[in-house]
Amino acid sequence: MDYFPAFLQLDGRRCLVVGGGNVALRKMRLLRAAGAEILVVAPDIVPAVADLATRGEIRHVRREFEVDDLAGVWLAVSATGIPDVDRAVFNAASDARVFCNSVDDVDGCSFITPAIVDRSPIVVAISSGGAAPVLARQIRERIEALLPATTANLGRLAGRWRDRVKQGIDNTLGRRRFWEAVFSGRVAREVHARRDDLAEQELAESLRSHGRGAGSAGVAWLVGAGPGDPGLLTLRALQLMQAADVILHDRLVSDEVLSLARRDADLVPVGKDPGGQAMKQDDINALLVRLVREGKRVCRLKGGDPFIFGRGGEEAEALDAAGLRFEVVPGVTAAAGCAAYSGIPLTHRDAAQSVVLLTAHGQNNVDQLDWPSLARDRQTLAVYMGVRRFPELMNRLIGHGRAADTPVAIVERGTLPGQRVIRGTLGQLTLLAEAHRVQSPAILIIGEVAASDLSQYRHFSATDITTRTTTRISK
Ligand code: SAH
Repeated sequence: MDYFPAFLQLDGRRCLVVGGGNVALRKMRLLRAAGAEILVVAPDIVPAVADLATRGEIRHVRREFEVDDLAGVWLAVSATGIPDVDRAVFNAASDARVFCNSVDDVDGCSFITPAIVDRSPIVVAISSGGAAPVLARQIRERIEALLPATTANLGRLAGRWRDRVKQGIDNTLGRRRFWEAVFSGRVAREVHARRDDLAEQELAESLRSHGRGAGSAGVAWLVGAGPGDPGLLTLRALQLMQAADVILHDRLVSDEVLSLARRDADLVPVGKDPGGQAMKQDDINALLVRLVREGKRVCRLKGGDPFIFGRGGEEAEALDAAGLRFEVVPGVTAAAGCAAYSGIPLTHRDAAQSVVLLTAHGQNNVDQLDWPSLARDRQTLAVYMGVRRFPELMNRLIGHGRAADTPVAIVERGTLPGQRVIRGTLGQLTLLAEAHRVQSPAILIIGEVAASDLSQYRHFSATDITTRTTTRISK
């Protein structure tokens, strides 16, 4: 970080502005808004500055800058438009240990002013440290659009209630939850609908009911994190990751996704390596139940969708048996994500009218599959956790009549940087996996649709963010 970000308390503190033109005027207005006592030194001033002086909002001394002007000053701005003068002010200010901003001269600044979005008391400041002011401005515009004007009202409402809430709820965790509920629930909705009086009533009522013990119980959220690209998270998933006290996540949940979690949430990996060290499902269930009983809000973050080969059902049963509250948030399952990012439509007119999601992770499971039905054509198979079972899958499907030249695509690390798409035919499956050293996580898509590659279309863009390697083995 080249600059230390901070908000300054300038109320009643003297600030010096050297220069009386329009640029100086803009700085004066900002300093006034923060309540500063402003001394303007300038031989000439524009009429608007003269107005401020007449109204007593600033004090104006009509002459050139002198070093003594810095006496008693906390902050200085030089905006004369004359580089030598601005630099002289900066040098004198530095000698006096006064922070100084010479407008338009990065080297003549010991502080810089950010682009701001003002929803006081909420203020967002954005700086590029002088490197990319236009980028900073664009970011500001986006934040402007994101924060309704009524954000200010919400901030003020919270300010008015801060002390009462502090008295009413004596622990930090409880207060945090209370405020989170205020800012994301009915109170906020009333404020944004400009019904401040209803918002006030609503807030008073929630504080009373909080006192009666409501709203403090723990909860579990069984949340699908999608296949990896954070862009595929649902809004609800993101909200809950931001609200959670603890996040129990699978190995498959990508770092990119985890980086969006609330900063001070505890991140606990409970992942299973394929074949490697694993936390047993019973232990995960027990941990989940214990944390929720302690009153924690637990986000159980799972790759893809929690109910598709995610054992979310078992966790839901365990929570229910313990009488605990839970909510399920679906996610983009790996088959859907991988198919989209490799340009394969899972169903396509006559080529496939059904999709079967299946898993082939162990011998037992492979033996129990309904092979005659899986081998029928005009359907797409999406195989999860199957990398080690490829030879067997190939033999059984072909053995039950699926054509050896049925197209297949293996999508490894789908939707993530480094995604690979390996294409070929069912008869080549073992060879493909070996030749390309396919690693988990990978999805195998079998069926006529696996031959299509929408990503070769000129206007296809879903894979822009991933590197793709498409490899074919010739017949
Ligand atoms: N609940 C998850 C599946 C968990 S099972 C879902 O709905 O997607 C784990 C298997 O999912 C992996 O072995 C792999 O087959 C598949 N998988 C998950 N993420 C993947 C990814 N990014 N790319 C390819 N396959 C993935």
